[in-house]
Amino acid sequence: MEASISLKNVSKQYGLRKALKQVSFGVEKNTIFCLVGPSGAGKTTLLNVLTTLVRPDDGTIYIHGLNLKTRAAKIRAFTGYVPESNTLNPVSTIFENLRIHGILNGLPGDKASTRAMRQLDRFEMIDHAHDLPPELSYGMQRRALVARALVSQPEILYLDEPTANVDYPTRRLIWKVLNEWRDRATIFVTSRDIQEVEQHADRIMILADGDIIMDGAPESLRTDSARPVEYMLRFKSENVQYRKVLESAEAVKALEQNGRTFTLQLQDGYGLETVLRNFNDEQIEQFTVTKPSLNEIIMDLIHKKLALD
Ligand code: ADP
Repeated sequence: MEASISLKNVSKQYGLRKALKQVSFGVEKNTIFCLVGPSGAGKTTLLNVLTTLVRPDDGTIYIHGLNLKTRAAKIRAFTGYVPESNTLNPVSTIFENLRIHGILNGLPGDKASTRAMRQLDRFEMIDHAHDLPPELSYGMQRRALVARALVSQPEILYLDEPTANVDYPTRRLIWKVLNEWRDRATIFVTSRDIQEVEQHADRIMILADGDIIMDGAPESLRTDSARPVEYMLRFKSENVQYRKVLESAEAVKALEQNGRTFTLQLQDGYGLETVLRNFNDEQIEQFTVTKPSLNEIIMDLIHKKLALD
């Protein structure tokens, strides 16, 4: 796939504070790319650099093959940005906010109106078209901000924590629209909520303390992790024999017991069925695989990185 956004050795320092340390990565077209990291990781700095609000100290950035340093105006013309804060004009209706955005992006008035209504429809807010932004709920304001960015049909769309603190229907709708828009654009989302983006991202990059500490598809981040997969096995009754059988099973690497419930880690190449073979169905109440959560994996990595620094 073609690279849409490409960064090489991008650095930014505020005084002594290195907000971005020689960051290099590429984002392919038609991808939902999620940048995740704790507070202070450098996410906003990176987004500000990409949207030309902040100039990097060092490094090169290409967007659709154009150098961001020399072709910023051209790049801005096909870029959309949804900021974290509400930047809707409070004294214009929602419809006017969207329409004016279209006109400022070069659309003739009638086309800007049609596109504005189409986006309001997409976000299920036609009924609010003639409301003023302060009259709307927080969730509706967030919908309007994303809808506004889409009026200019951006080929690259940056969104800064678009679903933070919003109601569930709005969250679902925003992700649904982003998922559809992916066919036409590259979508770059920042978030602090790995559990949420895990369900929607094609690719997740974890930033901590100005460095990339992990980068890949959500499932690959899990498989690359050093954290083992654990299995839970619960028997119908307590029986000392069960522990003895488990302890002597070749597949079992580690074992913890809590009454009639066991947590197991298995040797590489073994599945739970090799353990279950030692018991009959009447003895077992339940068994499940408890994968480590992506959140746990990331917290491990961040702690490891901070300990090394
Ligand atoms: P995030 O968005 O992941 O929370 P930021 O990019 O806002 O992270 O910040 C990264 C680091 O750079 C933090 O230590 C922050 O304090 C520092 N920083 C960000 N912007 C400025 C600024 N304008 N002046 C000084 N320090 C800044």
